[in-house]
Amino acid sequence: MISLEEAIERITSLMPDPVAEEVSLWKAEGRVLLEDVSCREEVPRFDNSAMDGYAVIAADLKDAGPENAIPLKQTGTIAAGDPGELMVTSGTCIRIFTGSVMPKGADAVIMQEDTKVESDVIHCMDPVKPFENLRLRGEDLRIGETAVYGGGELHSGSISLLAAQGYERVSVGKRPVVGILATGSELKEPGNDIAAGEIHESNRILLKGLLERSGVLPKVYPIVVDDLDITKAALKEAFEECDMVVTSGGASVGELDFVKEAFEKLGGELDFWRVAMKPGKPFIFGKLGTKFLFGVPGNPVSAMATFLVMARPALRKCLGARDVLLPVVQGELSEDLVNRGGRRHFVRVSLEGGKVRAAGMQASHAMSSLALSNGLVDVPPKTTLEKGASVSVMKWR
Ligand code: AMP
Ligand code: MG
Repeated sequence: MISLEEAIERITSLMPDPVAEEVSLWKAEGRVLLEDVSCREEVPRFDNSAMDGYAVIAADLKDAGPENAIPLKQTGTIAAGDPGELMVTSGTCIRIFTGSVMPKGADAVIMQEDTKVESDVIHCMDPVKPFENLRLRGEDLRIGETAVYGGGELHSGSISLLAAQGYERVSVGKRPVVGILATGSELKEPGNDIAAGEIHESNRILLKGLLERSGVLPKVYPIVVDDLDITKAALKEAFEECDMVVTSGGASVGELDFVKEAFEKLGGELDFWRVAMKPGKPFIFGKLGTKFLFGVPGNPVSAMATFLVMARPALRKCLGARDVLLPVVQGELSEDLVNRGGRRHFVRVSLEGGKVRAAGMQASHAMSSLALSNGLVDVPPKTTLEKGASVSVMKWR
């Protein structure tokens, strides 16, 4: 049996470097940006108005007030989008709008609300300071500054900044296709009749969601019965069609657990298959050529926990992500979390409003926690984390 840290280190160190793929910004949501992207334009691009109003020389209006309106002659208009090659001289102003280029000579904008218009004479009833209501070229970002850092997930905010910089495409980590196989002769596709001793298969849909949340492309295969040759054929097909494969079940020591043997018969090398964590001891990691196998246990909560703590970091690394581990947030325990066993226990918890409680029954066959939990808390062996304590919650959703 090996430690979890050792397992994660061994798995992630073997993962290939991310493969770059160019995508349109329109398709970039959630993708991992590979390299820092710098500004190629200043933000703002030019000095412009922050208000609808009039571009003026501030000194002209220093004595302006409600009782002392100062008249300025409007000599032109600059709409947003106009090149704005006009000039303001003392005693004049130019009609201007939010985002309009500032005309030469002007150093401030008086808001429309502080003026009274009498044909082409604008009565200004408020003083303005130099630079008031202006947005200065480059005050936010300068050319060469980093606009968006590589290694993070693109989101609508960072994507819109790239769009504002005139980019159309970005280089992101290519998403590996990950095959999903569920093994077990007791498994029936939900929606079908079920006989005594059979259960509805639920791990493929669990893994599909977890893979999507990890940023990769799942490919779901039919249920595999517990038979060596059938398991081998199913693995062969999945490895031919996918970059990686996740199997569920058949990973333990029972004589009907065929995943390890079938994988080795295909030429795969098993790296290890028992990890000191609960739920989820039997976990397979293996290499077949340049491709990898993650074999999670059949118990649904074990499948979830082992996937999240061991397979997910590896997949995130393949995508080029800087942070490969689940995001961690602090919460206060509303109840004791007790681990009497000798393996660290990843307790499925729900974190709501800063409070953390165990999500349903915690046995590895129990399924209520799948639906209730949004995080995991790592409880060390033979340890009680007490009610009221602050704990780190690994958020999985
Ligand atoms: P195994 O890891 O194959 O020994 O399976 C452990 C337990 O998980 C057994 O009770 C199985 O019936 C159950 N199980 C295995 N695979 C699945 C699956 N795909 N969906 C739901 N339960 C499963
Ligand atoms: Mg089984």
